[in-house]
Amino acid sequence: IDTAGTRSFPKQWQSISLRDVTFGYGEGKILKRLNFTIRRGERIGVVGLSGAGKSTLFKLLLKEYENYTGKILIDETPLRQIKLASFIERTAVVMQETEVFNFSLKENITIANNRKARDAKLLEQTLKIAHVTDFVGRMPQGIETLIGEKGVKLSGGEKQRVGIARAVFKQPELLLLDEATSHLDSESEQKIQDSLHQVFKSVTAVVIAHRLSTIREMDRILVLEGGKIIEEGSFDELLKKKGRFAQLWQTQQF
Ligand code: ADP
Repeated sequence: IDTAGTRSFPKQWQSISLRDVTFGYGEGKILKRLNFTIRRGERIGVVGLSGAGKSTLFKLLLKEYENYTGKILIDETPLRQIKLASFIERTAVVMQETEVFNFSLKENITIANNRKARDAKLLEQTLKIAHVTDFVGRMPQGIETLIGEKGVKLSGGEKQRVGIARAVFKQPELLLLDEATSHLDSESEQKIQDSLHQVFKSVTAVVIAHRLSTIREMDRILVLEGGKIIEEGSFDELLKKKGRFAQLWQTQQF
């Protein structure tokens, strides 16, 4: 990871753009000449079959890989020039598996935003939005209950809600989310779905979307295949096109 950047994440940023971004190892390129812009406040869904390059695209946006060609710009500032610490401070990531630590439930949620760790109101709002309130009542010491390996074990759905809560509490500029599809019963899934819709109202989000109901909410959907964007548009636009997205949609209708 390149930590040599010296600039801060721009305060009043308006867009994040990829310009001719190509990335890959050796002969095989994983991402090929990607061009797109994320406007502030937009919710972008990224869809595509396994191996299409979705996770790799995320890693580029997260500054995990910097040996790409082309440009990733936040307004006019190259992402590479932004200090990693500043970048991390302004972004939040929710992956399919949320790691919980051997701390209290509260600490697990406030961990990414130390400056606001004592903000009881923000914490209360966060617990509601992420539907943590639904299971905190069952915990022996409520929000102060020790969780993780040495404490109370959480189910997959509960852990995911902790992950969402952690991201909400952070109040990020940019949220990157890889939706989980497995290990969730339909009740937890519905709750997580509700949480996410709440979260999306207030952030810029790029979501690897697996669930059809989430995809509908997106302002724009990028369809990746073989490392290229093969289609782009709103849910309705893409369905009308009767292209790859429409096909993917059909196959998921079982
Ligand atoms: P998706 O998230 O859409 O399933 P990925 O971004 O994980 O796709 O992978 C895209 C392609 O890049 C796949 O063919 C995968 O095998 C390849 N790939 C991913 N990571 C690496 C890596 N570290 N080294 C070599 N190939 C990789």
